[in-house]
Amino acid sequence: MGEQGGKRGPCNRAETTKRDREVYLVGMTDRTLFQKIHAREIPARFVYEDDLVFAIHDIDPKAPFHCLIIPVKPIPSLAAVTPEDAEILAAILLASRKIAKENGLAQGWRIVNNVGLHGGQTVAHLHFHLLGGRHMGWPPG
Ligand code: 5GP
Repeated sequence: MGEQGGKRGPCNRAETTKRDREVYLVGMTDRTLFQKIHAREIPARFVYEDDLVFAIHDIDPKAPFHCLIIPVKPIPSLAAVTPEDAEILAAILLASRKIAKENGLAQGWRIVNNVGLHGGQTVAHLHFHLLGGRHMGWPPG
């Protein structure tokens, strides 16, 4: 039997090409900063975590307490949510209440979500700021 016949081995041309394509696509799939933090590839101080959401202290806090509540699913922004994401959105708000309670924010707190360019969003993975520990001004800047 010649080279073209019989059992196909690991060096088979078609298989190698398919594998190369998979490796290429994985390499090309750039995950968000928050996905890398969730995977513990980039360090952060975790405040809260469940199956749907996690929360980390903001690296540049704007209040005595400032964390980011983030869905595990990399939704780019509030502008991109769909009705299927309703459970995730509820989980974010329920987590905010839990986090506020556990971190002594009995006097109140503020939730902020920046959307897009005019909203001042800088990380394209949905996140809600939870700020507390001081009086908040109004209107926001
Ligand atoms: P945005 O401007 O998109 O509403 O909020 C992004 C937030 O992510 C900012 O408050 C910024 O300080 C925070 N941030 C950016 N990079 C990092 C990081 O590497 N680690 C943490 N913990 N926070 C970050």
